[in-house]
Amino acid sequence: MSGRTIEVANPRTGAVDYRFEAADEAGLAKLAARLRAAQNGWAVRSIEDRCQALLGWADAIERHKDAIAAALEIDTGRRRIARLEVEGAIASIRGWAAGAPHLLPKPQWVEGRMNPAIRHQAQDVPYALTGVISPWNFPLTLSLIDTIPALIAGSAVIVKPSEVTPRFAGPLSAAIAEAGLSDLLAFAPGDGATGAALIDEVDVVCFTGSVPTGKKVAVRAAGRLIPAFLELGGKDPLIILESADMDRAVTAALRGSVLSTGQACQSIERIYVARKLYPAFLDRLVSAAEAVRFNWPDINSGEVGPMIFARQADIIAGQLEDAVARGAKILTGGKIERHGGGYWIAPTVLTDVTHDMAVIREETFGPILPVMAFDSVEEAVRLANDTVYGLSAAVIAGTIEEAESVGRQLEAGAVTLNDAALTALFHEAEKQSFKQSGLGPSRMGAAGLLRFFRRKALIAQTGAPAPLSAFCEG
Ligand code: NAD
Repeated sequence: MSGRTIEVANPRTGAVDYRFEAADEAGLAKLAARLRAAQNGWAVRSIEDRCQALLGWADAIERHKDAIAAALEIDTGRRRIARLEVEGAIASIRGWAAGAPHLLPKPQWVEGRMNPAIRHQAQDVPYALTGVISPWNFPLTLSLIDTIPALIAGSAVIVKPSEVTPRFAGPLSAAIAEAGLSDLLAFAPGDGATGAALIDEVDVVCFTGSVPTGKKVAVRAAGRLIPAFLELGGKDPLIILESADMDRAVTAALRGSVLSTGQACQSIERIYVARKLYPAFLDRLVSAAEAVRFNWPDINSGEVGPMIFARQADIIAGQLEDAVARGAKILTGGKIERHGGGYWIAPTVLTDVTHDMAVIREETFGPILPVMAFDSVEEAVRLANDTVYGLSAAVIAGTIEEAESVGRQLEAGAVTLNDAALTALFHEAEKQSFKQSGLGPSRMGAAGLLRFFRRKALIAQTGAPAPLSAFCEG
């Protein structure tokens, strides 16, 4: 350990109520050596066997569910979503364990096309040690989303959770120990310096976080020539076509923007509405936004929690100030509120926004809904694609077919049709991040597992080896 103590604030009270010591280079090197030693034995077990071991871990998490959820609740200031994260983790382990053995091709010899005597067979070799670096918005989910398939592939894993939300790692580690997996999966607490040092120890790094940090991770990984799988920020557009059902559009727009206080990579952050629907849509959206309640003072009530990371409140306030200074109007919300020491912001509907405002250009990560009208589908597509991000997008129309025809033109890795932000709720479809929203294969679907293997070819000569004279010039 580094002797470097990091203080953590409680998002509901603002008080520093947790401290931990960050892992340093020497500690990480020791941890990596221990995991690498155990990984040999893990990788030679069958995939079915590894899945069985992970099912034991899922059962252990089930037994430690209350403690993990309680820690996650303090980390994030929200109760329902904390419990959903724990249940989701258990379901994800069980889902991967059931499906993964069927995803790997059965090894078999294949005769060569030119020379049938030379046969080949593939061997899928896992990376020995995977590093996972996760953000604060869904601390448990995003620490395990890469970890579970990496373990099933036969890799050992070190996770560096966010320094903003580190509390859940303690009770989760108790479940890891109970399942006998402590030599294969470990949490290394720390901040950016710890994350950077982790990259120097592993064979592949899976990073979820912001674009600026993702670029630093990519550079560090490139220096070691190891792959970096990057899942970064977004500025997701929602297009509402003239044929859309108004109830559907309002429900999806509000939930897609406001869920988790907008602290989700796949949040809707820009809404483009057909001019004909625009006035009625705005009225309905403002009423729906004004009905949303904070989960304060009672954590068991309301739909919106506090800002998990106080500094994010400054970013949101700055974007709103910039927008208003450039002519935007706030129809509802718009102020950072202080309750019980935490930072809160009600759903905020903005109009008269333009593409030169930060609130349209940059990731906001809050429950902010800037709305613009469009006059043609071509204009809507152009506006939606006018961004450096390409994480996901959504289209609502009278029919799935009409929504699909627009969705196919959007430059994003996943497009929800006739709803919004389904990527958070549906993990089966493969998707890659476009533009600056990320790099690397899909973490969803079969590729989520297969990316942790390198393919090796075994090439067998069953005939006589060719003599050098076979290549003689004359
Ligand atoms: P962040 O980039 O600030 O930090 C993410 C992680 O990187 C943290 O654990 C941090 O300690 C670590 N880190 C910081 N500097 C580092 C360095 N130089 N080297 C290695 N690691 C370093 O992101 P955040 O504020 O925690 O999370 C919010 C961001 O995450 C948003 O941009 C959001 O869109 C993004 N996100 C993306 C997805 C996705 O799947 N695409 C999902 C959730 C969140």
